[in-house]
Amino acid sequence: MFKWFGKVNFSPYTKVTDFARHLKDGRLMGSRCNSCGAFSFPPRADCDACMSGDFEYVELSGRSTLHTFTKIVAAPTGFEDVVPYTVGVVDLEEGGRALAWFGESVPEDEIAIGMDLQLVPQIFDEVEDIKVYYSLEKTGTTWSRTST
Ligand SMILES: [Zn+2]
Repeated sequence: MFKWFGKVNFSPYTKVTDFARHLKDGRLMGSRCNSCGAFSFPPRADCDACMSGDFEYVELSGRSTLHTFTKIVAAPTGFEDVVPYTVGVVDLEEGGRALAWFGESVPEDEIAIGMDLQLVPQIFDEVEDIKVYYSLEKTGTTWSRTST
């Protein structure tokens, strides 16, 4: 299932495989340790606070604030066709951080550290594979399916 995130997959099955299934349904999930209550995003099968392997999924609101951002003008391999683009790191309301592209709902000249944003799963339905990435959008934006 993790092939949805890229072309190389060394982990055909892990305890957090359901993370990908939830994302496919547009739900952003973190994990909460059933032993000590520690929260993690992305989800962890084994708690980094108490080492317990007993966890449950918790759905995130996607509400977040911008921690930092950068505009990419010299593209890494594979992204030459899409420069320039801007990516940001957000602090999620429930805890944890995520790196994502800025979506079209946020004009470049309005991007500012500390601004409120919404982390939105973007789902590409394709014939054989399903690809998922995140975008940063204005608060209140919901997830969407995108055709290629
Ligand atoms: Zn724990």
